[in-house]
Amino acid sequence: MQEFDVVVVGGGAAGLRAAIAAKQAGAKVALLSKVHPLRTNTALAQGGINAPLGADDSPEAYAGDILQAGDGLCDPAVVQNFTQHAADAVMWLERMGTPFNRGADGRFDRRRFGSNSRARSLYVDDRTGHVVMQVLYEQFQRERIALFADWYVTGLAIDSARCVGLTALGLRPGTLDSFAARAVILATGGFTRMYLPSTVAMGTTGDGQNLAYQAGVPLRDMEMVQFHPLVFPGGASLMVTEAVLAEGGRIVTAGGRELSNLAGATREKICQAMDQAGGPVSLDLTLIGSQKLKSRFPQTTELLRTVAGLDAAKDLIPIRPVAHRSIGGIEAGISGQTAMPGLYACGECACTGLDGAGRMAGNLLTEAVVSGLRAGEAAAAYAKSAPAASFPAGRLEEEKKRLEALLSTDKPADTAGRIHAELGALMDRYAGAVRNADGLQSARDQIHALKERYARLGVRNQSAVYNYELVAHLELGAMLNLAAAVTAAAAARKESRGAHRRSDHPARDDRNGISHSVVTMVQGAPQVDRKLVVAL
Ligand SMILES: Cc1cc2nc3c(=O)[nH]c(=O)nc-3n(C[C@H](O)[C@H](O)[C@H](O)COP(=O)(O)OP(=O)(O)OC[C@H]3O[C@@H](n4cnc5c(N)ncnc54)[C@H](O)[C@@H]3O)c2cc1C
Repeated sequence: MQEFDVVVVGGGAAGLRAAIAAKQAGAKVALLSKVHPLRTNTALAQGGINAPLGADDSPEAYAGDILQAGDGLCDPAVVQNFTQHAADAVMWLERMGTPFNRGADGRFDRRRFGSNSRARSLYVDDRTGHVVMQVLYEQFQRERIALFADWYVTGLAIDSARCVGLTALGLRPGTLDSFAARAVILATGGFTRMYLPSTVAMGTTGDGQNLAYQAGVPLRDMEMVQFHPLVFPGGASLMVTEAVLAEGGRIVTAGGRELSNLAGATREKICQAMDQAGGPVSLDLTLIGSQKLKSRFPQTTELLRTVAGLDAAKDLIPIRPVAHRSIGGIEAGISGQTAMPGLYACGECACTGLDGAGRMAGNLLTEAVVSGLRAGEAAAAYAKSAPAASFPAGRLEEEKKRLEALLSTDKPADTAGRIHAELGALMDRYAGAVRNADGLQSARDQIHALKERYARLGVRNQSAVYNYELVAHLELGAMLNLAAAVTAAAAARKESRGAHRRSDHPARDDRNGISHSVVTMVQGAPQVDRKLVVAL
């Protein structure tokens, strides 16, 4: 058994920032990640990271935009606190070496992203996430924090209703081990891989949300899933940052009509306008000019050429809305504390009240570093005062038996890949950017049937070392549980608000008070309750 004060699960921006903060606060820290930190979802972030740094900007103006995008579901105290600390968190990244683009006057160049009333996204060309991760990883290494890369966390360890550690499968050694910890921080990212197509990295399967959910910790506003409007759907779902709309890019119908007033609009509004166009639409970047495309969007231009076979300076790019980020997640307080003592959540897997019903473009990277810092400090402080963790006897054996029981020598026709493909297609079709009661009911019935098939599915690969079939199996289990939670919450919210659009309930409904949906697992199924935000 390994023993630490604080164990962080996840090596994206949130996890790395949390681990650095906890270590600097004096804790003995380990970080576990199922893929190496430099290959996580954060590295895909392109367009920028928000901070109210311009002379025309302020934390108050930034807070106003977040509240507007959150469409009534934000916690104003959380928003205010976040916007007061955002600039410091981003400037820390700059001081540690992030080379944010600057203008001829030497000042930071800032982009105006959708739903921001000001240009407030600092960026590094269109590789912001990649560069931020290099800088964070360098600082992480400098702190000499124990890294368990290619370790898959399979379960939490709970003693007297307190989280005291976890069990994890080392993919390279092929062994299951226990990690005792006074505090555990989940920084496991989003869950939108349950949709196909989606923009996110392969491992964005909601494992952390599922670990918390299964342990009785509530999930909040799971129906809030953000779709990105500018995605070339062929092959690898290539996303084009909406920063292009502020630089002269346009969305046009097949007949050449431009969808107007979209620069600065929320992603939800752009998706809606595309839906109302009544046919296929394309992205036209030709007015930006090849020179500017190459200098400002080098990665996008190159990917469009190699992946889509398109010349951004000349060709129209077919696009459609595709599942992008989860907004709902593990219900957590301002410092990441969850309903379970000893368990913290930060980054995309957490739902703290910051984003409400709509996550502003450029905010997730900021949120990852602000919430990571907070959770790291809070978990380290808790670990100092908490009694020593007593890892439950028999927990490791119990988990070993559970995983062994999944191995099977049968050769059924079904596979995890097939079930995932069906799940992804039905989520895209029935729980997509626009939903309705009939579609959601159909989705719930089909998810139920997929869960039954999943329960009969064995893992044929018997190898202990790098058993990716076992990992895919566990990830699929998480996605199925969470898909049931998403569709149950979406069916229960009979209104349109933020990212949640219902064609059968097209208006926002404040008549009975604005409420969060809170999902808890009861006998393996989601139970949705309402939690009032503001009584009107
Ligand atoms: C194409 C694209 C472009 C984007 N552009 C922007 C942008 O311009 N600006 C912006 O603000 N945001 C952007 N985002 C969103 C942003 O990148 C992410 O939301 C954010 O980085 C999430 O960070 P995170 O640390 O919470 O999670 P992630 O980076 O997803 O990291 C999750 C970590 O958890 C680990 N993990 C998960 N489950 C387990 C398990 N069971 N055991 C062990 N480890 C586990 C993973 O290995 C990974 O290390 C973009 C996202 C995408 C996909």
